Amino acid sequence: MNDAFAPETRRRLTQLLDDFQRAASPGPFDYGWVHQHDGQRHDRHVVFGCMVHGNEFGSLPAALRLITALRSGEITYGGTATVFIGNPEAALENRRYLEADLNRVFLPTKGTTHEERRARQLMPILDAADVFLDFHQTILETAHPFYIFAWNTDAWQWARATQATPIWVTRNPTAQFSSGTKCTDEYVSDRGRPGMTLELSKKGFSSGAESLCWNAMVKTLTVADAVGMGSAIETLAASEPDFRFMITEYAEPFDHPAKSLRPGLVNFQTVKAGEALNAPGSPTMVAPQDGALLFPKYPEREAGVAVAPWPNEVYRLIVPMNAHPVQRWPTP
Ligand SMILES: [Zn+2]
Repeated sequence: MNDAFAPETRRRLTQLLDDFQRAASPGPFDYGWVHQHDGQRHDRHVVFGCMVHGNEFGSLPAALRLITALRSGEITYGGTATVFIGNPEAALENRRYLEADLNRVFLPTKGTTHEERRARQLMPILDAADVFLDFHQTILETAHPFYIFAWNTDAWQWARATQATPIWVTRNPTAQFSSGTKCTDEYVSDRGRPGMTLELSKKGFSSGAESLCWNAMVKTLTVADAVGMGSAIETLAASEPDFRFMITEYAEPFDHPAKSLRPGLVNFQTVKAGEALNAPGSPTMVAPQDGALLFPKYPEREAGVAVAPWPNEVYRLIVPMNAHPVQRWPTP
């Protein structure tokens, strides 16, 4: 999981982190990697999360630009806006996390890993959010940016009104992303606030990730300003197109260390029912139906055998939802 850094990438990351810390004012939070802006016109609080997974740092240039633009008045926002960096320590090692996956441990535990301690520092920021948008990136290439979080009507209105991408991979709101864990959007959603996760691109710096993240931040603040000044989010959402909703139909369990995907599979790659997905000579894996791949995994191997810890799943198969989530999961 520890990828080698290109020297220029490490230099840029270090510089941006230094610049972020120099530019940031943490407001009321006892945390070094957060900036809070107070526009003093209304009380709508928007929180943006960056780099909850350390090596997904493609949002960092936009985060720094946001701080600078709010400070200079290049953009204005009348409410409270907070942007935090979740795991810069892991980023500097080009790793997803150091000891535990931070986006699984937003739980009331007393764990002492770096990430469990970090989750406890970030929880007060999430507790204060009226709207939360977390920026992530995929391990492999993705054909499209996409939202990925459980169905929630409130978050639907916000995501639709601010629409960074037309694709939302959603799931049953009563099922957890993975059992016994809690990610940032679930933590915020549990508090009855919209919590959204947006996958920008393949991990790392890119102009695509930067502009998508910047546009999503600015649009969210524009919408939150309108709501803060009295507009209804339902009205703002209704003026934008609805999503292409996708759902996980199948997950291939990583239950044998020799299971290995054929080379070159990426996110949103379409596959046909019966198509072989395994590498030659490794256990058979066949797409159970037509669909698109999500989160295909190529774990590190020694002599053909995946090195522990194994991922839970080799890949997921997603398909378009044939009923709108409003119909499929009506709010009680
Ligand atoms: Zn992530």
